[in-house]
Amino acid sequence: MTTVALKDVIKVFRDGTVAVDTINLEVNDGEFMVLLGPSGCGKSTVLRMIAGLEEPTSGAVMLDGEWANELPPRERRIAMVFQDFALYPHMSVNDNIAFPLKLAGVEPTPRGERVGDVASALGIGDVLARRPSQLSGGQRQRVAMGRAIVRRPGLFLMDEPLSNLDSGLRAELRAEISGLTRELGVTTVYVTHDQAEALTMADRVAIMRKGVLQDVGTPTQVYGRPATLYVAAFLGSPRMNLLEASVYVHLDRYVTLTLGEQALYLPWNDIRSRAVAHYHGERIVVGMRAEALTPVAPDTSGDVLRGRIRYLEHHGHESLAFLDIGASAIVVDEVGGPIDGDTPLGQRGLRRFGQMMQRFTGRVAVE
Ligand code: ATP
Repeated sequence: MTTVALKDVIKVFRDGTVAVDTINLEVNDGEFMVLLGPSGCGKSTVLRMIAGLEEPTSGAVMLDGEWANELPPRERRIAMVFQDFALYPHMSVNDNIAFPLKLAGVEPTPRGERVGDVASALGIGDVLARRPSQLSGGQRQRVAMGRAIVRRPGLFLMDEPLSNLDSGLRAELRAEISGLTRELGVTTVYVTHDQAEALTMADRVAIMRKGVLQDVGTPTQVYGRPATLYVAAFLGSPRMNLLEASVYVHLDRYVTLTLGEQALYLPWNDIRSRAVAHYHGERIVVGMRAEALTPVAPDTSGDVLRGRIRYLEHHGHESLAFLDIGASAIVVDEVGGPIDGDTPLGQRGLRRFGQMMQRFTGRVAVE
């Protein structure tokens, strides 16, 4: 069993760079946690502190509930996999995978058995005699994984392990890696800047920006209920529509939401009204995902935003329409899909997030 807890962890490098700024994060036993964020946000520094390759400037790194700030890497029961694979070029695949066991003094016979088991689990049983230079990128990455798991570590740390591979192989290996770590039940902390990787592999995602943790949650939570505007704009493709709006609550119990030059009149019993009512007289930011907007016919009346198509983007499985709705541009999913004027409003619900933002669903009439 391995758990990780970071408590108020700060890392300032000698040149004054604040790479990590007061991070609190817990990784549960057997959990697959992904650290996600743009280049330079401090993900690798967090991973290196968990590994013992960097010491926090302040705060605590706890492993299995024990203070571990100064614990050397070799005493941490961890295995690391990096993007450059770092295999020994002069050794065969077999010897590369067996190396950590040899260091640990495991006898040749059980060593051979463990290597055989791991290699067959990873589908590289037939290349054990080859050198790394005679392997494809994907095979090399599997060898690196094999070398990491053969010691049965308590914790996997992976830093962009797929970033040197082409997209087809990445997709294949990300399913393999998350499948394998779950099968083994090993706690994993995985660093990536690729949100598709994060959302497909993670049990929970921790999103960082400029050394600060922005949000932590399951992929569904961070996508559907982002904690900050940054996370709302960062996750998802196309990015979430974010529109400034003003709220006006009428005493005869309806709410006007003004978005650019358009206004939505929401009846009091509409859950969106309830959610925005306490912002009476204020400007808020409304977040609407493309897939939460239902296209309707131009002559639809009621609470409908109106827009003109600026351009369409076809992606095979879906089409996106980029609309001008007056002051702002928005993107709507599946414009060629069902046009249904009777779809009730507010089906998906909405909530308050941050001080500023509401998640919204609605209808858009394409003119
Ligand atoms: P990437 O995805 O590009 O690897 P990252 O999110 O992993 O980025 P880090 O490598 O953790 O980011 O770096 C965070 C910040 O700390 C960056 O501004 C980086 O330049 C800085 N940094 C990293 N290592 C050092 C160091 N040894 N000395 C000074 N600054 C450093």
